[in-house]
Amino acid sequence: MSGQAAATLQRQSVSALPTTGVLSWGRYPKIAHQYVHKPGWNDQVPGILQAAAPGSLLPHGLGRSYGDSCLNDGRQLIDCRRLNRILGFDEASGMIRCESGVSLSDIIDLTLSKGWFLSVTPGTRFVTVGGSIANDVHGKNHHRAGTFGAYVRQIALHRSNDGLVICNAEENPDMLHATIGGLGLTGVIAWADIQLKRVAGPWIDAECEPFESLSSFLDLSRDSDGQFEYTVAWLDCVRGKNPRGIFFRGNHSADQGKHFQPRGGPRLPFAMPHWMLNRYSVKAFNNAYYTVHAYKESAAVVPYDSFFYPLDRVRRWNLMYGKNGFLQYQCVIPETRVDALEELLDRIAGSGMGSFLGVLKQFGPAPPAGMLSFPRPGLTIALDFAMRGERTLKLMQTLDEVVQQSGGALYPAKDARMSPVLFEASFPRCHDFVSYIDPKMSSSFWRRVMGA
Ligand SMILES: Cc1cc2nc3c(=O)[nH]c(=O)nc-3n(C[C@H](O)[C@H](O)[C@H](O)COP(=O)(O)OP(=O)(O)OC[C@H]3O[C@@H](n4cnc5c(N)ncnc54)[C@H](O)[C@@H]3O)c2cc1C
Repeated sequence: MSGQAAATLQRQSVSALPTTGVLSWGRYPKIAHQYVHKPGWNDQVPGILQAAAPGSLLPHGLGRSYGDSCLNDGRQLIDCRRLNRILGFDEASGMIRCESGVSLSDIIDLTLSKGWFLSVTPGTRFVTVGGSIANDVHGKNHHRAGTFGAYVRQIALHRSNDGLVICNAEENPDMLHATIGGLGLTGVIAWADIQLKRVAGPWIDAECEPFESLSSFLDLSRDSDGQFEYTVAWLDCVRGKNPRGIFFRGNHSADQGKHFQPRGGPRLPFAMPHWMLNRYSVKAFNNAYYTVHAYKESAAVVPYDSFFYPLDRVRRWNLMYGKNGFLQYQCVIPETRVDALEELLDRIAGSGMGSFLGVLKQFGPAPPAGMLSFPRPGLTIALDFAMRGERTLKLMQTLDEVVQQSGGALYPAKDARMSPVLFEASFPRCHDFVSYIDPKMSSSFWRRVMGA
């Protein structure tokens, strides 16, 4: 394509953005992008790459990452949501080929009624295939199934210097390995082949079990991981190192022969005032949540969406944290360092800034599917904190000390503030990864953690 044609294409597919036009899910940081390209077809992407300056672009999906890994302050995004075509689905093998802007929700809508489900799904279905690969997302079945990347059989990757590169186990396997968990920096994924799993239907045999200490959580986890495909716990963090919580576990149910009716939910219309969230409201919520689940029937057949995606019931729930937004802190701590997890919980409870929902899960032994994949054997905890400026950032720095000292790691998809030192400690292969970065790509996150 000539330079002039590329420039014309860029004008057509570029839209100027208001300052806060694109935010991540945590609505922090609030930054301004120079342009957002909105290609509707994959054959528009090479022109965008050609016309761009080095280090100026980043692909963007549904913006469900919490921090700045999907943002590119002062530079440009390629919004991939219109690359949303399902290109093929083999009902016999469960292999689906789709463009990278297809959402997990779109895949479920097409395949579940035919007896296929995602091999791995995160806690929301409103993420794109591209985003799921770039963060190598994990779900409630990590102990059995590993991560999303383990089911990516092949991708086509737009690279500014090499054109469209096919990556699979035989062709360019290293580039595939770098792109899984590669934070969008290796190029724009055009399409991907994903292996789905057979299920009998949309129902889950679910159980919930209250627990009163970390050691009882560990016992429940150990006992359940062999029998249950999905396990996760909700944690009440107000009580420090003696947390209570509810342990959820489940398996796909045999065909129930019941009609499945997906339910819609309410949505938050605007950002809530920040004073509504304080230690008293958090405590009251946690008490109510615990009480409801502790006395609920402990086993039931439930629809898959309420089991996997309870937060999707309230659209735009992120507005609950007010206009300053919030940060999520998700780390993994080696299994042998339960003391470090206790220390984290004590520091959080002492701060009085604990969140509504703490999520705790034991990761399994699956080898990492990508060079920078976050999951590894250990205990992962995720907590939300309303952004209250320095106070919040200082608390997180004290949590970082514990994570780093324990040999743990932070999850880039949830991060907006970790230091370069902690990033390098969490992802020792980050320097090897650099050679796979597309010269036109960069992100706010990457410049922050690599000082690039
Ligand atoms: C309620 C909720 C629950 C969640 N639960 C989990 C969970 O259980 N487990 C988990 O692992 N994560 C979880 N997440 C995080 C979420 O799954 C990831 O951040 C996911 O990557 C977001 O996908 P996205 O489409 O929104 O992409 P974005 O957030 O827009 O982008 C994510 C990354 O993907 C890259 N990218 C996007 N499209 C492409 C493309 N076409 N080619 C190359 N790179 C691309 C971007 O550059 C960026 O680096 C949760 C998020 C929410 C809001």
